[in-house]
Parts: sequence; C-alpha cells; structure tokens
Amino acid sequence: MSAKTAVIIGAGLGGLLCGRILSRKGWEVTVLEADTKPGGVLAGFEWEGVNCERGFHSVGGLVPGDPLEKLFRPLGLMDLPWYKADPDEGFPFLRLNSCTEYEIEHVIGPYQKSAWRLKGGGNTLVEELCKGLDIRCNKKAQVIDNKTVTCKDGNTFNADIIISDLHPLTTAEMVRDHLRPSYIHRLARLENGPDIFTVHCLLEDAPWQSGAIFLDEKFMLHFGEPETGILEIMRFGEGNPVEMIDRAAQRLGRLKVKKYRSMLSPGYGIKKHSNADFVAPVTPLPWLFLTGQNLGLHGILGTTISALNTCKSIELSSPEGR
Ligand SMILES: Cc1cc2nc3c(=O)[nH]c(=O)nc-3n(C[C@H](O)[C@H](O)[C@H](O)COP(=O)(O)OP(=O)(O)OC[C@H]3O[C@@H](n4cnc5c(N)ncnc54)[C@H](O)[C@@H]3O)c2cc1C
Repeated sequence: MSAKTAVIIGAGLGGLLCGRILSRKGWEVTVLEADTKPGGVLAGFEWEGVNCERGFHSVGGLVPGDPLEKLFRPLGLMDLPWYKADPDEGFPFLRLNSCTEYEIEHVIGPYQKSAWRLKGGGNTLVEELCKGLDIRCNKKAQVIDNKTVTCKDGNTFNADIIISDLHPLTTAEMVRDHLRPSYIHRLARLENGPDIFTVHCLLEDAPWQSGAIFLDEKFMLHFGEPETGILEIMRFGEGNPVEMIDRAAQRLGRLKVKKYRSMLSPGYGIKKHSNADFVAPVTPLPWLFLTGQNLGLHGILGTTISALNTCKSIELSSPEGR
C-alpha cells in the first residue's frame, strides 16, 4: 500500500511538529514555507555576527513528569541541550495584560516550577525538527482547492490531506471549496492579541542573567546567550526603542548600547479567555486540518499540544482510525 501524503502550509513550530509526528508514522510529508528559512517566529536570526532570538526565550515544565517534558520526550526533543534558567523574580508577579487569566494559568503555570533555556536558542529546536523533512522554502501558499495548494509562484502541491499552520481565518480565506459562512464568521469574531515589539541591543559589559526580568505587565527583558552580548527589550504593541532602552537602564543600571535594532512580531495569536475560544483542528472539509498557536494555547507548550491534537484528529478521521 502506498504511503499517505500530507502537505503542510507553514514551517513554524506547529507545522514542523506535525511533520515530525506524521513522518514518523510513515506519511510522506511536504512542508511549504513562505519565508527563506523554516522556523517561523521560533527561528533566530543573525545580526552583528551573533545569534538573536525572536520568539523563543525559555520554556516551562521540563522537569521529569512536567507537561512539556512528557510531550517532548517521545518526540525526541529532550536530548537537546536544555539548561535551567535562574529562578525568576518576575513570574510570581506576572500579570501580562495582553494575556487572559486563562492563558496565564495554563501557559505561564509551568514556569512557576522551573524555566529552561536552550543552547543555540530557537534555531537548535528548528534544526532538530527539520531533520528528515521535505521543506520547500519561498513557497507562499495562496489558494487551497480540492486537496491542492497553489503557491504564489504557480507551483501546485497535491496530497491526501492539507494541514495549515497559519491563522485559521487566513486559511479559510485561501479555500476555494465551500466553507459554511457560520464557520468563517466564528473565526472572524475571535479576538486576536497584540503584536510584540522587540528592541535588540548589542551591549558592552552586559550584566547577564539567565532568567527573564518582568518590569511590569507589558514589559520584559531577556538576555541572549552570554557570548552574544545581546539584551532584548520587549513590550506588547508598538514601542519607542529609545524610551524602552531608558526603561531597561532604570532597572539594570547604566547600559552601554553599541547598536540597537527593533522589530515587530506577530504576537500570540487568537486570545483564549476559556475553552470556548479554542479552534478545532478539524474543519468542515474532511481533508483540511489546522494547527499552530492559534488553535489552543500559545507558546512552545501550547503549540505542541495543538500539533498532537491535529495529528490525533487526522488519525481518527482516517478510515483505519475509526
Ligand atoms: C516575541 C515573542 C517571544 C516569544 N517567546 C516565547 C518563549 O519564550 N517561550 C515560549 O514558549 N513561546 C514564546 N513565544 C511564542 C512561540 O514562539 C509561538 O507560540 C510559536 O512559535 C508559534 O508557532 P506557530 O507554528 O503557531 O506559528 P509561526 O511561527 O507564526 O509559524 C507560521 C509559519 O507559516 C509561515 N507562513 C505564513 N504564511 C504562509 C503562506 N501563505 N504560505 C506558506 N507559509 C506561510 C510563516 O512564515 C511561519 O513560518 C514567543 C512569541 C513571540 C512573538
């Protein structure tokens, strides 16, 4: 019997995890990525000759028996060079005003026990997840029609199932097949969280510490790996880099900033006030599935849970799975 085939749109954490899970089950998987490299917000980038992070700083819950450890171990991700961050003084007081109470309890909860960093940052996780996967970069999906994805460059990819790691509404807007209006209206009504503005500063004499520092519910400081000399200053929504550096200096003492650059990243996606805001991995089309941070909780933990849910739904939807 020939292998079942899947095309995954988006090589972010959600898409890569689905690729790993399905390919280990014998599926032939192709991952389409619009960007020049895989990883989405998880991927780091090079600036001034050092690695800078975008959407990866630390994870909570890697002590044996903790939620993420239980999920990562069978996925082969516990052998990566994780190391413990110093106990954080900020998390007990954390009330990220862009996060709902529900998200704080479920996403931030595991950090209360322990926070973990990864040598090499998000790129280490991305490199591991890409192993053995057929990833096509510079492939921006534009249309989904009858199990076929058409990219901006005109290339088409056909498979037994399509999985989208994009925002569910973006996915629905790409679909040419009939999707019930009530389904699309529900996706359109869900509330999205704010973007995240990051200032990367290249410091002289960086006062390094491994844990994140929360200045208030909007504002966070995080150091890159010691050899990088990078300090990241983050806030929700747009920010003014000079004011943000001043604010960081008030907390850390005088900062000798050699250079800085700023960027806006898409934030944590659809806000979850309760289970009622969750988006199912299945869609009205039996061959189209969703994954990624927008479905359930955000972050590495939430996106991993969603990827497992997506793959379980695929298994249950296949004739043999029933
Ligand atoms: C600033 C910031 C800091 C964060 N820090 C942490 C942290 O410390 N710990 C933690 O647990 N979580 C953190 N997160 C959250 C975590 O990074 C995300 O929840 C997770 O990486 C989301 O993965 P995803 O696959 O859902 O989405 P994405 O990473 O957005 O992946 C979507 C992918 O789809 C691609 N794509 C988009 N359109 C198309 C198209 N038309 N065709 C093909 N491909 C397309 C994109 O290029 C991208 O690669 C942070 C996020 C941000 C923004």
